[in-house]
Amino acid sequence: MQSIKKVHYKKQAIEMFQSEIEKFEGLESGGVLIGHLEDDVLIIDKASNGGPNAVHEEFYFRADPNYIDMFIDMEIANSDCKLRYIGEWHTHPQIDPTPSDLDLQSLNEISESSGDFCILLIIGAINFQPKFFSKQAISIIKHVKERKFYLLKLNP
Ligand SMILES: [Zn+2]
Repeated sequence: MQSIKKVHYKKQAIEMFQSEIEKFEGLESGGVLIGHLEDDVLIIDKASNGGPNAVHEEFYFRADPNYIDMFIDMEIANSDCKLRYIGEWHTHPQIDPTPSDLDLQSLNEISESSGDFCILLIIGAINFQPKFFSKQAISIIKHVKERKFYLLKLNP
């Protein structure tokens, strides 16, 4: 098992977070993360939005499953399979985001269905500024064979 301790979000992904936060001000937003591994650093190349049928509420978000599946398939195909599905992201109406029990439960489920590892990125949407991204977001990783969740260091 490769030990991943850091995650780097590329500009393109952070721009997607910012535009979704602005578009759905006061409501949660989210999507999926696509990326690749470079040694022990996880690189997030792209993030999707939630899609046309996503549910955005004050304390709830659910992505549009058809849109997400299509986005993942298209991005993996366009990258000649160099990129893979890495996990999910969503916002919380918080400054310092903390995961809910439901968040950890769903991270556990997605890592099990991926058969490997998955990450969950939670972004505090209150006063969000891209330059403070690493202070206003947390990334939690769950390996399918380990029982614990780990926090990853952001954009080292
Ligand atoms: Zn959450």
